[in-house]
Amino acid sequence: MPMAKKKPSKKAVRRSTTKKVAKKASKKVAKKTTKKKTIKRAASAHKKVSKKVAKKTTKKASTGTRHISKKRTKKAVRKVARKSTPKKAAGKKKSAPKKRVIAGKMVYAFGKKTEADGSMKTLVGGKGANLAEMTSIGLPVPPGFTITTDTCAAYYKNKKKLPKGLMAEVAKNLTSLEKQRGKKFGDQSDPLLVSVRSGAAVSMPGMMDTILNLGLNDKSVKGLAEKTGNERFAYDAYRRLINMFGDVVMGVDHHHFEAAFTTVKVKYQVTDDTDVPAEGLKELCTAYKEVYAKHVGSKFPQNPLKQLELAINAVFGSWNADKAISYRRIENMTGLNGTAVNVQTMVFGNMGDDCGTGVAFTRNPSTGENKFYGEFLVNAQGEDVVAGIRTPSPVSEMPKWNNAIFKQLIGIKKILEDHYGDMQDIEFTIEQGELFMLQTRTGKRTGAAAVNIACDMVKEKRITEKEALLRIPAGDLTQLLLPSFDPKAKEANSALATGLPASPGASVGHPAFTAGEAVERAHKGEKVILVRKETSPEDVDGMHSAVGILTSTGGMTSHAAVVARGWGKCCVAGAGAVSIDEQGGSFTIGAHTFGRGDLISIDGSTGEVFAGSMPTVEPELSGNFSKIMRWADKYRTMGVRTNADSPADAQRARDFGAQGIGLTRTEHMFFEGERITAMREMILAETTPDREAALEKLLPFQREDFVGIFTAMHGLPVTIRLLDPPLHEFLPHEPDAIQRVATNQGVSVDVVRKQVALLHESNPMMGHRGCRLAITYPEILSMQVRAIVEAAIECANNKIKAIPEIMIPLVGTHQELSILREQAEGVIAQVKKELGFKKKLDIKIGTMIEIPRAALTANEIAEHADFFSFGTNDLTQLAFGYSRDDINTFLPDYLGRDILPEDPFQSLDQTGVGQLVEMGFSKGRQTKPDLKIGICGEHGGDPKSVHYCHKVGLDYVSCSPFRVPIARLAAAQAAINDE
Ligand code: PEP
Ligand code: MG
Repeated sequence: MPMAKKKPSKKAVRRSTTKKVAKKASKKVAKKTTKKKTIKRAASAHKKVSKKVAKKTTKKASTGTRHISKKRTKKAVRKVARKSTPKKAAGKKKSAPKKRVIAGKMVYAFGKKTEADGSMKTLVGGKGANLAEMTSIGLPVPPGFTITTDTCAAYYKNKKKLPKGLMAEVAKNLTSLEKQRGKKFGDQSDPLLVSVRSGAAVSMPGMMDTILNLGLNDKSVKGLAEKTGNERFAYDAYRRLINMFGDVVMGVDHHHFEAAFTTVKVKYQVTDDTDVPAEGLKELCTAYKEVYAKHVGSKFPQNPLKQLELAINAVFGSWNADKAISYRRIENMTGLNGTAVNVQTMVFGNMGDDCGTGVAFTRNPSTGENKFYGEFLVNAQGEDVVAGIRTPSPVSEMPKWNNAIFKQLIGIKKILEDHYGDMQDIEFTIEQGELFMLQTRTGKRTGAAAVNIACDMVKEKRITEKEALLRIPAGDLTQLLLPSFDPKAKEANSALATGLPASPGASVGHPAFTAGEAVERAHKGEKVILVRKETSPEDVDGMHSAVGILTSTGGMTSHAAVVARGWGKCCVAGAGAVSIDEQGGSFTIGAHTFGRGDLISIDGSTGEVFAGSMPTVEPELSGNFSKIMRWADKYRTMGVRTNADSPADAQRARDFGAQGIGLTRTEHMFFEGERITAMREMILAETTPDREAALEKLLPFQREDFVGIFTAMHGLPVTIRLLDPPLHEFLPHEPDAIQRVATNQGVSVDVVRKQVALLHESNPMMGHRGCRLAITYPEILSMQVRAIVEAAIECANNKIKAIPEIMIPLVGTHQELSILREQAEGVIAQVKKELGFKKKLDIKIGTMIEIPRAALTANEIAEHADFFSFGTNDLTQLAFGYSRDDINTFLPDYLGRDILPEDPFQSLDQTGVGQLVEMGFSKGRQTKPDLKIGICGEHGGDPKSVHYCHKVGLDYVSCSPFRVPIARLAAAQAAINDE
């Protein structure tokens, strides 16, 4: 839509449009929490973050405490691990010598001989590196080997063919596994079976493929049955292999297998997979092979080596499956080589009731509580837990089943945390009473858990304060600031169903039943809750688009739970009472039916599901949150201010630790009630005296607002930006609004219409706005400066320390600033004189650098400026030539096709726009070495951009109140990384 046809919004002007755009186009949730919400927080918090204190303590910290390098810390952690690990569990554990990367080597073993270690994630993937590391520290890991991510890259370079020599290396490693396990791959009486799993350098839960029980065939399945004396188990393993191999390796749709399974279950009159007898599973294997042959066009391969080769191919191929690409895009994962392939000897959790499998976290990933947390299933394979096919039991119930294993796991929890110094997410299997570790990785956690775990680990002396700060993704703090449902409303409104509190938050939305539908409806602006039986990696786009996720099966570690938690998205999992009719587009809970038009509320912190829309309340912040903020202030060197236009916003930001206001957009003060009327009068005035008369009416409103803001920010600087938007944005466009203005003003409708047409601009963003307004209508500037000075003097007389700073927007030439500065100084002097104010009233006058030419000529502009503030919203708009208002018409395509790595209005384009920032900075400082320079574009609250601002050397960042804590933490992280 061309700009000219756009209706200006009544209230929020174009800034909020940009916000909407950014919000839609990006995964970040930060902005969602801005504005309307308030937070209760200890009123004293802001005192602790005053710049003075921050600077003092930072100095102390940098002289008193020596920075501990990551390497040193890791060593120290290992030392602790060695000391405190019980001998029995750790076995022959010595801190293993650092392993070597060997050029050209494609396969690294773990087991009797372990060739990789935890530091080699880039090469052997996270899973491979941790399997090697766990093996080295003596944990019970089934032996195996890892094919490197470089080999995956070579596979793609080689037109999706396995590189030469790979299968020979694989064969050599298989021989070693055979020796270690005393079984042969492909043996007919006692076959060695393996799992084949993906594992990139960065964890991508469930995004790529896994094949279990590989190595079985028609003959060896009989051998396995005989050897184990468990025919049911052997055929269960075989049917799983044919299914997974068919699905993952050959692309046969899972539902074909599912249909065959249903037929067998009907025949044997059972509903659960586990109740199908051995005979039924035998028949199922035959049926599965038929499904396979029908859809693949050839028989299920009987040669285990062939199976392995095809499986390796498939895992490499899965790196570029749509779901994996989507996940990397959503998670902003770039620069990865590919996936590694882990081939590991199978251990079985499904051989009987003395077997089981589970996934767990060493601490609670939702709250951070230091309690072993997870779930397990008796007589099951790992996929059953993760896929949510059966609802598992919490690990707290494990002692009733096998107390010895539970105790062993608690011991391993300690060993792992001692070793890694962080919360771990583990997978384990128990085969006939023996525990095996299949995986460990740093556990994904919610923002609240990240804060609590970091603080606890400092208390436990596992990590330093600085490491604790680096552990918390700054953007995740938003989750702590999220609202929850009003307890009173909850009391009055009993839950219809209760599932698991899989990921905290309170969401209200309309149900969507497929991922595609969720994406489509969310794109149109609807708030949807994705309601599924269970989610799978194919659903990630829909999950991401939804405001919340509700599943009827699956546990705390199901796909939905893990992914939602990673994103900080509200999720209720395993709400068994929810019965979904995907085709019909509805779900029922008992007698209640909900369709697409109904609203539901889900509480991810309690697992409750309610009918209708429930009101929310603001969160209470924990003591640990304040502690993290205190530490952040201790280490950061860059200031954090806020963008606030009202006393309430200013107070909120101050409570969040803002050290001043970096941007007050004065036009935001003119949109309400009487003010808009006076504003319209001013705009429609045909003569200067008429305009001055209208401005006279606006003056008291402005002064009153400034007094309120100065009072809230008592003793802290307040940068007030003079009027910026194009005048026509204030004008009425709807017929009845025009009529109202005409009546108010005592002129005809035609006169108003003519004025509106006259003031209409085809591109307001580049039109008569900012300092250009003040050049044409100096009386506007005079009124605003007068209001500022009168307010400051009123405050001073009431012993409130006001520190106003006047900021002139949209300057492109030094002449503009020179003229307007002189005028402002004149008004300041005059008002002081009129009011007989003799005390010092130091009002700095500066400008925004938001036009490329201003950055290019910053040395000239600095001559007339006491400070600069980068307006990176406009700077981005003008550098790219993208309108802030309609970028969303093409942004999704640009992101989808990697033309842009991210929304440049959200995260600063360091390569391009960054050059203007750096140039403006250095040219400004060239003229005035102590020129104060900050940023007040939306980027000031984006962690990545905050890091960048620190690197450039800015004095402060300024962002919306709810992002102040994020900016404080990000600034500290930038300073620590810089040491
Ligand atoms: C900017 O352009 O970055 C800025 C802060 O000003 P506004 O968003 O009000 O144009
Ligand atoms: Mg601007």
